[in-house]
Amino acid sequence: MAEPILATRDLSISFGALKAVDDVTLEIERGAITGLIGPNGAGKSTLFNLLTGTLRPDSGAVRLQGRDVTGHAPDKLFAQGLGRTFQIPKPFARMSVLENVMLAPLDQVGERIAGPFLSRKRMRAQERAIRDKALEVLDFVTLSALADHPAGQISGGQMKLLELARILMGDPEVILLDEPAAGVNPVLTQTLIGKIKELNRSGTTFVIIEHDMDFVMHHCAPVIALAEGRVIFQGSPEEALANPTLLDAYLGAQVDG
Ligand code: ADP
Ligand code: MG
Repeated sequence: MAEPILATRDLSISFGALKAVDDVTLEIERGAITGLIGPNGAGKSTLFNLLTGTLRPDSGAVRLQGRDVTGHAPDKLFAQGLGRTFQIPKPFARMSVLENVMLAPLDQVGERIAGPFLSRKRMRAQERAIRDKALEVLDFVTLSALADHPAGQISGGQMKLLELARILMGDPEVILLDEPAAGVNPVLTQTLIGKIKELNRSGTTFVIIEHDMDFVMHHCAPVIALAEGRVIFQGSPEEALANPTLLDAYLGAQVDG
């Protein structure tokens, strides 16, 4: 395989006595839409947290585009092309949809250009540029009409699209989505899938945690499965469906959505 865009080696983290992610070594193929599946509590979201710097591993390493990024902060990884959404979106509820999107890259831009010598004129130009890009991104995710609505008043599915818009401000090369279709109506799910495919065609790599096997079967390949913090399967979606170990893992686990 060519250099994987994202890879882990012997990655582990415990919460007390619980090994939530247990010696995970995997490679994410550049340009693919990888499905990450596994029963509830398998460690999928925790793995995302380790990949994106939200959590530091107890041991092991994470590599992004061939560079060791273990323990790097989320905003630093975002600046290096790694975007992620959360299982439960938490927008700034009283700010508008547009403002939420405009916030995304401010740290980055601030770091580069802010300082005592930044002129008002340049600052305004910068803000206009961010605003223009935010409007473009909102248009892409079909939320333009809601730009001025408070973000706390849009639907769950629209919040998922808003999350996607926020990370698109960083022009990510790899996007991790945590249960993008959960609790989203079928129409918005189709919109989201369409956008994922469109971005993927233009080269963006995806890793998607999803419970809906229909979604995974139709839109993800390869598939990686976790159970009790360990990788128990890697292969095509067809192989996943036919894999007895995987079936056991699901049947053995408590199913609570
Ligand atoms: P998944 O996303 O696969 O459903 P998670 O990664 O959220 O699973 O959780 C894996 C396990 O780790 C679960 O048993 C969960 O309760 C536990 N866990 C996750 N985050 C924490 C935390 N911050 N503190 C303690 N336990 C946690
Ligand atoms: Mg989860």
